[in-house]
Amino acid sequence: MKRIPIIAGNWKMYKNRDEALAFIYNVNEQLPSIDKVETVICAPAVFLRDLVKRQGDNLRIGAQNMHYLDEGAYTGEIAAGMLKNIGVSFVVLGHSERRAYYNETDETVNLKTKKAIETGITPIVCVGEELEVREAGTTNKVVSKQVIAAYKDINKEDALKTVIAYEPIWAIGTGKTATKDQANETIIAIRKVVADLYGKEVANQVRILYGGSVKPENIAELLATSDIDGALVGGASLKPESFIKLALAANEK
Ligand code: PEP
Repeated sequence: MKRIPIIAGNWKMYKNRDEALAFIYNVNEQLPSIDKVETVICAPAVFLRDLVKRQGDNLRIGAQNMHYLDEGAYTGEIAAGMLKNIGVSFVVLGHSERRAYYNETDETVNLKTKKAIETGITPIVCVGEELEVREAGTTNKVVSKQVIAAYKDINKEDALKTVIAYEPIWAIGTGKTATKDQANETIIAIRKVVADLYGKEVANQVRILYGGSVKPENIAELLATSDIDGALVGGASLKPESFIKLALAANEK
């Protein structure tokens, strides 16, 4: 079964509203059909509603984080239901920047993943290793542990509603891309974990993206591998022309 590729942009804490809207107007007409490539922009929360209102037929809007509870006295937080209510359809969970700076743990990633599924938002669950782990040769072990923790108490049917992003921390925002073989081998290992948890059929359907300094110059070789189903892209998703190039490259997969 063919897995539809995903190109997801993670804007992090960049752009003002005018720049965000200009981007959307620029890319809308130039993206491939959503049944060939799913393109997503994960934007700062303040623009989400504005972007959803203007998303073209082939673009979807995602958030970069959410809380795992429905509501409560949690100043500054945003609930999944609030995102759903304004038309957000994806959410990045467990990004390494949130794990490093905001106390995100495997446990909160699991709670958030379950809440996103329950709310009808597609979680993009991020996992990835630090450079020392890669150098020590224990990448698969570390990443497998993150995947197992993220999917705790999630059934087969719900697992199919998720997307995984493998993002080696040493490759994020550094200009250092994992080689296509490094990325593909780790993604094969992640798919094996999914197969161990849910069976081969599910593992063959779950999209697993690569993230870490992906740009128009390297996307084609990454996507030419057996198991990389698309990319989660930071820096190169900020410019319309480069985001369009990434989406068009995925259309060739
Ligand atoms: C990211 O933010 O998830 C990311 C992969 O960033 P960059 O593409 O800039 O390395």
